[in-house]
Amino acid sequence: MSLEIIQDKCTGCGLCLKACPFGSLSLEMRDKVGAPHPKFKRIVMVDVSCNLCGACVPTCKFEAMKLHRPDEPQPSVNLADFKGIWVYAEQREGVIQDVSFELLSKGRELADARQTDLVAVFLGHNIREKAEELFHHGADKVLLVDHPVLGVFDSDAYTDIFAELVKKHKPEVVLAGGTSVGRTFIPRVAIRVKTGLTADCTGLDIDEKDKLLLQTRPAFGGNIMATIICPNHRPQMATVRHKVFKKQKPDTARKGQIIEEAADLKAGRSKVVDVIHEMTNEINVAEADIIVSGGRGLGGPEKFQLLFDLAHELGAAVGASRGAVDAGWISSFHQVGQTGKTVCPKLYIACGISGAIQHLVGMSSSDMIVAINKDPAAPIFDVADYGIVGDLNEILPMLTKVLKEG
Ligand SMILES: Cc1cc2nc3c(=O)[nH]c(=O)nc-3n(C[C@H](O)[C@H](O)[C@H](O)COP(=O)(O)OP(=O)(O)OC[C@H]3O[C@@H](n4cnc5c(N)ncnc54)[C@H](O)[C@@H]3O)c2cc1C
Repeated sequence: MSLEIIQDKCTGCGLCLKACPFGSLSLEMRDKVGAPHPKFKRIVMVDVSCNLCGACVPTCKFEAMKLHRPDEPQPSVNLADFKGIWVYAEQREGVIQDVSFELLSKGRELADARQTDLVAVFLGHNIREKAEELFHHGADKVLLVDHPVLGVFDSDAYTDIFAELVKKHKPEVVLAGGTSVGRTFIPRVAIRVKTGLTADCTGLDIDEKDKLLLQTRPAFGGNIMATIICPNHRPQMATVRHKVFKKQKPDTARKGQIIEEAADLKAGRSKVVDVIHEMTNEINVAEADIIVSGGRGLGGPEKFQLLFDLAHELGAAVGASRGAVDAGWISSFHQVGQTGKTVCPKLYIACGISGAIQHLVGMSSSDMIVAINKDPAAPIFDVADYGIVGDLNEILPMLTKVLKEG
């Protein structure tokens, strides 16, 4: 691919410079053969940092920019053979993970839009009785594989069985949680069935015209939101992190069809010796209803005590921006955002956090956002329902005191 500047058409207006997220465009004085010359025309120059994202092309009113793409690839399979929306129903020790219910809610919308079945793929051992919960959350069918080897997660076995199911049943869409389990084997499945995978999507939709899955996620360091399509391969595969979509209330009257699949599985190359659960006395931000989160504005690690004090009164978890985590003030267990946890609490209190896009993608779907920042122009106020302009060193102890007394 390449970006061509058609010099005869370029007027040097500079509109495209504003559209470039990477600052790769500049205006220079050039003569007719393109050599630098102080007297001649101003034209746009592209430097080596351009990664051909194409954001500049539509801003040019003079059609002076052209992105040359390689020839359109042709579909690798008969697309019409692929039907149904699949959700990988992740269970741990027989407990279906919330992210799977969230994906079933979104999957239901997608299946209705495509007028097709929503299928939950359920792998494990002695899990049949749990399948009903998947119907309650929107599945029309459950594809069940119950086998002793699947009792504890094993990447080889899960990849083998899931890839075989995809080859046999040909779903048009496969969704899975962006959990440690999903991240481990779902990309391997995508490779086996020769298709693409969009990781950590923050939005999924069906394109009205082409009926393709629109997979939206932050790209280029979170500077832009990219919508990715998979037009020539099937299934269209995506992972989504916990709390990105909302789980709907279960409808216990819903019923569906269980399809049992046999599995010819042998013990894999690895063997699980022991399972050790993460032990922590702190409330996990990913699960909390209230989060008090701190950023670089705290000014030092000791100031996190102000947040822990307030969190204690509210029964809240303590979150953090990457700024605070990178400064070594608190562990990455607490980090909220693109490279941390995605959260969706009832109340999110952001203290001394500027509101960088990479932080916002992890918390902006919170029901209510309160921001405390001494800079009235801080971008966090753009997403906040309530904003307090002031010094957190004064405001936080005041809030804690009022709650303690109340
Ligand atoms: C690829 C990539 C991934 C990233 N992932 C994440 C991520 O997952 N999560 C994340 O958070 N960031 C992430 N970042 C970093 C992000 O871009 C920001 O740098 C970071 O969020 C800034 O943290 P901050 O808001 O704490 O610090 P700053 O941007 O420095 O903001 C500090 C704020 O505190 C305010 N302040 C200062 N003193 C006080 C006071 N006494 N009282 C009240 N307010 C005060 C200031 O006005 C300022 O607004 C990522 C960046 C990249 C490139």
